[in-house]
Amino acid sequence: MKKIIIAIDGYSSSGKSSFARAIAREMNYIYIDSGAMYRAVTLYCLRKGYVGNDFLKTADIISDLREINIGFAYNPDISGYETFLNSENVETQIRGVEVSSYVSRISLIPEVRSRMVELQREIGRERGIVMDGRDIGTVVFPDAELKIFMTASVEIRAKRRYDELKGKNMDVDFETIKNNIIVRDITDENRDISPLRRADDAIVLDNSRMTITEQLRWIREIIKNKLNEG
Ligand code: C5P
Repeated sequence: MKKIIIAIDGYSSSGKSSFARAIAREMNYIYIDSGAMYRAVTLYCLRKGYVGNDFLKTADIISDLREINIGFAYNPDISGYETFLNSENVETQIRGVEVSSYVSRISLIPEVRSRMVELQREIGRERGIVMDGRDIGTVVFPDAELKIFMTASVEIRAKRRYDELKGKNMDVDFETIKNNIIVRDITDENRDISPLRRADDAIVLDNSRMTITEQLRWIREIIKNKLNEG
């Protein structure tokens, strides 16, 4: 059967990764969380002291880019992929509040973006992947066979992120998370390079009131038609 690329873009915490992961599992495709890649670069920069409250050492970040290796490995114990930064499993660290509050700034750097896009295209060369992010359908894979643009209300998205982090025993505050989501939406939508926007040929999915099971039921038919096309 032919293999396709499924590109899922949308707002922070709109449920992209749960949805993308579930689709990949059903189709036996590889799932790539492109946000995790920007998060891993951000973690690297924080550790190196390249980014802080009132500074950003762009030149240092750019000159280190070739030394930042990011990969994913499937962990059967959690039935999911984990993110690796220079061979270290950083899946937990990249989800914390600190990385979340700097990642949008790091992802504004054009050289960081082109390196990530290069890696993402390499991973998708054989097709048979589901990738989620902000610019997957517009920039990374403009020729993806299926593009979905996901959204949900800010309140619902903040609640999801809050529950997710609480579930990991992290010490978090709802208002901080909500503000972080609002700021990230604004930064992601208004940046000059690869701003978050719906590709003209993307299908919109507002899942504010949908369970994951309902979303999967909705997408199955669409995928079936895509696989039968041409
Ligand atoms: O998807 P997630 O919320 O983990 O992404 C973290 C951040 O990485 C986003 O807020 C955005 O700034 C950046 N990002 C991006 N392009 C992507 C994926 C994520 O700029 N394709």
